[in-house]
Amino acid sequence: MNRDLLCENVSVSKDGQHLCFAGMDTTDLARQYGTPLYLMDEDRIRACCRAYLTAVHDAFGDSARVMYASKASSFKRMYEIMREEGMGVDVVSVGELYTAFKAGFPLSNAYFHSNNKTDEDIAFAMEHGIGYFVVDNEEELYAVEREAAARGITQSVLLRITPGIDPHTFEAVSTGKVDSKFGFAIDTGAAEDILQKAMVQPHLSVKGLHCHVGSQVFDSEVFLLTADVMLQFIADMKVRHGFVTELFDIGGGFGVRYLPSDPVLDLHGCMAEIGAFMKQKAAALGIDLPAVAFEPGRSIVADAGMTLYTVGNVKCIPEFINYVSIDGGMTDNVRYALYGAPYTLFQANAMNKPHDMTCTVVGRCCESGDIIQPDVKLPATIERGDLVGVLTTGAYHYSMASNYNRLTRPPIVMLSGGDSYVAVRRETIDDLIALYQK
Ligand SMILES: *Cc1c(COP(=O)(O)O)cnc(C)c1O
Repeated sequence: MNRDLLCENVSVSKDGQHLCFAGMDTTDLARQYGTPLYLMDEDRIRACCRAYLTAVHDAFGDSARVMYASKASSFKRMYEIMREEGMGVDVVSVGELYTAFKAGFPLSNAYFHSNNKTDEDIAFAMEHGIGYFVVDNEEELYAVEREAAARGITQSVLLRITPGIDPHTFEAVSTGKVDSKFGFAIDTGAAEDILQKAMVQPHLSVKGLHCHVGSQVFDSEVFLLTADVMLQFIADMKVRHGFVTELFDIGGGFGVRYLPSDPVLDLHGCMAEIGAFMKQKAAALGIDLPAVAFEPGRSIVADAGMTLYTVGNVKCIPEFINYVSIDGGMTDNVRYALYGAPYTLFQANAMNKPHDMTCTVVGRCCESGDIIQPDVKLPATIERGDLVGVLTTGAYHYSMASNYNRLTRPPIVMLSGGDSYVAVRRETIDDLIALYQK
């Protein structure tokens, strides 16, 4: 059977029967570790990091950085891998920051995002030597200044700017998209205003500007539009306030394949286009191009992930719908319930059978919205005990997992060089009651 398996790390066993991931048979992994099970292909993660680093260095030179947006998938082993690969990271909470710290990640190479950092968050981050705060609002600017002053340090910050680009219509809108909860809009004058205020804070060093516009982007267009607006602003701020932007972080958002109809991203080609455009634009504006940073999350880890489930029952309601219930659900994958995310699924122990029954794959939560994916094709013979594999689950799955219905979260098993190991163990029911004081 000639199927599009989305990513080169997905394959079928020699006898045609079993789904394989990172060269390993998923039925063996399910037997060894149980289900539901998150698999992560460590070699793929590393390959994605290297592809990014090569692409940005080729396009922008040695000063370019890649910051892994760790909200996509945050656990200790992940930060060790990022450290080993020479990546920076973004964190958005004290929890992520502490996890990175515990992994020995050098926090001087980390950005702290979030639209609401408490005084305690700010103090904790400084105590742990965070490299940069990405300042999102005026209250935060003064709070970071106060904490830096109290310690007698100079803290590096970036300012989060809203460039006014609509990522869906790919248009620069003069008044729209200033309605984001994140950052300071250029159009309203808020961005210029905060820059002036930041520049005079005695304990802050404003290193540059940050923005993040796209999601599931497969070409350079939205980055070119964003760079166009941001470089103009950077040039204006130099003329009007003598501000030199050393670092320009243009965010993340590159796409991955959830469905065979999704395009394949040419990362290196995209970066080359963005790099050529930015160099030419900076020259036209008479400014030096700042060091450029990208913040990919999804595209570093998504297709390095797969989830395995065991089927519990199949309920056919003739002329209406066929339900296939699996032993996980919105607790380990909330993305369809949250925003209708698409997925590709297979019966992992019967790849040789025609996938010809239209069905809706549902979880085990007491919630009718607990759907992994509606209207997918699985073999009509699928039954209790069979194995279902859901592809492209490395990003925003474990990191969004919950204990709804007091379900335990699956383990994360890493695959590398034909071996497997547990990076995060399976939660137990005793973990669930461990916090109770009475
Ligand atoms: C979520 C996020 C990213 C990563 O987005 P992806 O689509 O996962 O690449 C990067 N930067 C910021 C500020 C984000 O909030």
